[in-house]
Amino acid sequence: KETLDKGLEKTKDSFFSKLGRAVVGKSTVDEEVLDEVENVLISSDVGVETTVKIIRRIEERVARDKYMGTDELDRILREEIAALLSDKSDINGKLETDDFALPANKKPYVIMVVGVNGVGKTTTIGKLAAQFHKRGKQVVLGAGDTFRAAAVDQLKLWGDRVGVPVISHGMNTDPSAVAFDAVKKATDMGADVVIIDTAGRLHTKVNLMNELTKIKRVMQKITPDAPHEVLLVLDGSTGQNAFIQATEFTKATEVSALAITKLDGTAKGGVVIGISDQFKIPVKYIGVGEKIDDLQTFNKMEFVDSFFK
Ligand code: GDP
Repeated sequence: KETLDKGLEKTKDSFFSKLGRAVVGKSTVDEEVLDEVENVLISSDVGVETTVKIIRRIEERVARDKYMGTDELDRILREEIAALLSDKSDINGKLETDDFALPANKKPYVIMVVGVNGVGKTTTIGKLAAQFHKRGKQVVLGAGDTFRAAAVDQLKLWGDRVGVPVISHGMNTDPSAVAFDAVKKATDMGADVVIIDTAGRLHTKVNLMNELTKIKRVMQKITPDAPHEVLLVLDGSTGQNAFIQATEFTKATEVSALAITKLDGTAKGGVVIGISDQFKIPVKYIGVGEKIDDLQTFNKMEFVDSFFK
């Protein structure tokens, strides 16, 4: 919770102080206040569509109750924002006690990680591996981003650091062959989880779709219901670009969960709200720093709370 508050400090400071200014000298939520709230949401990168939705819901409440004091605004905004967010509790019906717990009936649990270069994909894989490893789980990594030498090397570094095997065929090799070998290795050694990196080239959509489809098909030769999770990594500091990437990737493959990174470096953490609302995909992880422990499982109530303090 403390790291979360610290990680979201910039967004919180900006959001909270702007919100404070929006209601200064006002006792009721009127048109003028709502216009200001709208500006605050837009400037936190909540996105226009989601902002309009939130403002409309507040207007409806004002109309229904005939009155809303500015002292109630925080609570009401909190409620409306939480209603648009989805986290792991929406998949499982509840949050587990250990947020990094893996489903017991899927072994190895296969996670395919997608996203464009630079968003923090490799780092997120490393951080995830560390969390699972720390819980005594056997982890295998697959260096399937074979398009860039740096990506393969970096994943190997993470593997060494965490102490888990990395399956790699080097650069410019077939990513689906890497995925196959990684799932095979994980199955043979009875590993708990295998995390496969992929190349995130967006410039050719058909290629992206074909590549991801092929990787899936090949790993299904070993584990028919793999991947159990397709995790899309988005850079939370890139605002509207994150929306565009989410659009492209959800067209190319079935994304089941989101990881939103670099929220520590931005005042635009509202992007989490907009993306969660528009894509209806649960945010599972958030990145709040470069260090190995700076990955958190996303909890919508905690997230909203950290905005309003
Ligand atoms: P990839 O190209 O998508 O694999 O991206 P990398 O994992 O190499 O990350 C790109 C840069 O972003 C690196 O310098 C990471 O340290 C940094 N990074 C990744 N996640 C976070 C985060 O949550 N917060 C911060 N501040 N930096 C991050």
